[in-house]
Amino acid sequence: MKILEYGQPGFAQKLKRACPSFRAADEIAETVRTVIADVEREGDKAVFRYTEKFDKAKLTARTLRVKADELSAAPKTLTTAQRKAIKEAIHCVKDFHRKTMPQSWHAKNPHGATVGEAFFPIQRVGLYVPGGQVPLVSTVIMSAVLAKLAGCPEVAVCTPPGKDGSVSPSLLAALHLCGVEEVYKIGGVQALAALAIGTKTVPAVDKVFGPGNAYVMEAKRALFGRVGVDLLPGPSEVLIIGDSTSNPAFIAADLLAQAEHGTGKEKVFLIVESREQAAAIQAEITAQAETLSHRDAALGVLKHHGFCVIASDLEAIAEIANYIAPEHLELQVKPDSRKILAKKITTAGAMLIGGETPTVLGDFTAGPSHTLPTDRTGRFFGGMQVTDYMRRTSIVEYDAKSIALAWPVVRAFAEMEQLDAHGRSLEMRLEK
Ligand code: NAD
Repeated sequence: MKILEYGQPGFAQKLKRACPSFRAADEIAETVRTVIADVEREGDKAVFRYTEKFDKAKLTARTLRVKADELSAAPKTLTTAQRKAIKEAIHCVKDFHRKTMPQSWHAKNPHGATVGEAFFPIQRVGLYVPGGQVPLVSTVIMSAVLAKLAGCPEVAVCTPPGKDGSVSPSLLAALHLCGVEEVYKIGGVQALAALAIGTKTVPAVDKVFGPGNAYVMEAKRALFGRVGVDLLPGPSEVLIIGDSTSNPAFIAADLLAQAEHGTGKEKVFLIVESREQAAAIQAEITAQAETLSHRDAALGVLKHHGFCVIASDLEAIAEIANYIAPEHLELQVKPDSRKILAKKITTAGAMLIGGETPTVLGDFTAGPSHTLPTDRTGRFFGGMQVTDYMRRTSIVEYDAKSIALAWPVVRAFAEMEQLDAHGRSLEMRLEK
């Protein structure tokens, strides 16, 4: 990991370079534009061609959609422990998000008119489940449970196929256990384009959801407007803040866990009080990585996108963390400092508090959706929530009495905005 010392000349510029704001590289943006344009022009034909090019899988209109019996048989391929784990994770995610369900309401406004809000599920949603490097079974749960809680009538899922045209049975099992019936073996930009624009085989959706690599994120950004987009949850990030009380082995393990995804674009940040603490954690990383199956990928991320800041002032630490706006924030510091930092850091996607709360708990089972903003988009996005799957309509109902109280306001605004038909539409009712 590269070391940046807080307070040294050029620190702010170095930090800025270490965590740039969301922006796709030119070649990624170009590929995304081309694939979207081709899917728009050629539909399924372009989807098949790009699936063969990027995923090395040959699919046809007959094999693009996962068959109903393959989905329903998938849970039988799981071990008892795996089936229990998926069910338990579904239970925890449902339990958390049920508490966040919005309630329709109505009340009187200052004129005595009835105003309120009503929430409706989005009719047709498209969930992207990444699968380029590894099958992200947990991501199924982190989106599909929310779509079902919101009551979306149609839930379509796209996930990349392997070279043999298949999708991981564990991932299909999770989809089945979440009640999803419409699954397409499409990955990357072609998946997002098919969902947003629609093809003969994939009917268009109203909004797309879910995480993915840099191509997937740029596709979501480029398609926004044609289709709704939840947030921009790109390659994983973690910021761990430690002090003299934290366990270097725990910190190293948690850094490696977020670095192992394998796209090479993941980012890991560490803030500790001294170079000695940084060295102890680095030694742990080297030792622990030896036995990991994704050793090279994880070490590559730590080398190229791993930054360790040396800082001890809590105000400065909070300011740095708020600048980074990390997807995951672990506070592995003493209890007093935890309390202070938990109040001052306001841009983290998920805050994991204390040495007993590694990010993996949030990744798999704690409850909040693990689909979280990255690349500094945490400054304006929160993590995925049930209301993302819903539309809100505001409700207004005036009557003869309340309309009279509103008239002076309406008349004055109609004059200021020089829109006399606006004023007339209310005045006519008062004259009635
Ligand atoms: P992915 O499904 O996002 O991407 C695979 C697809 O990318 C392929 O199907 C292919 O179509 C496309 N692709 C690959 N190389 C391409 C190229 N050169 N040109 C055009 N298209 C190309 O799976 P992934 O690659 O494994 O990435 C998943 C990412 O999602 C990881 O970085 C992981 O950290 C991240 N993630 C983030 C969150 C979050 O909430 N922020 C949650 C889970 C996972």
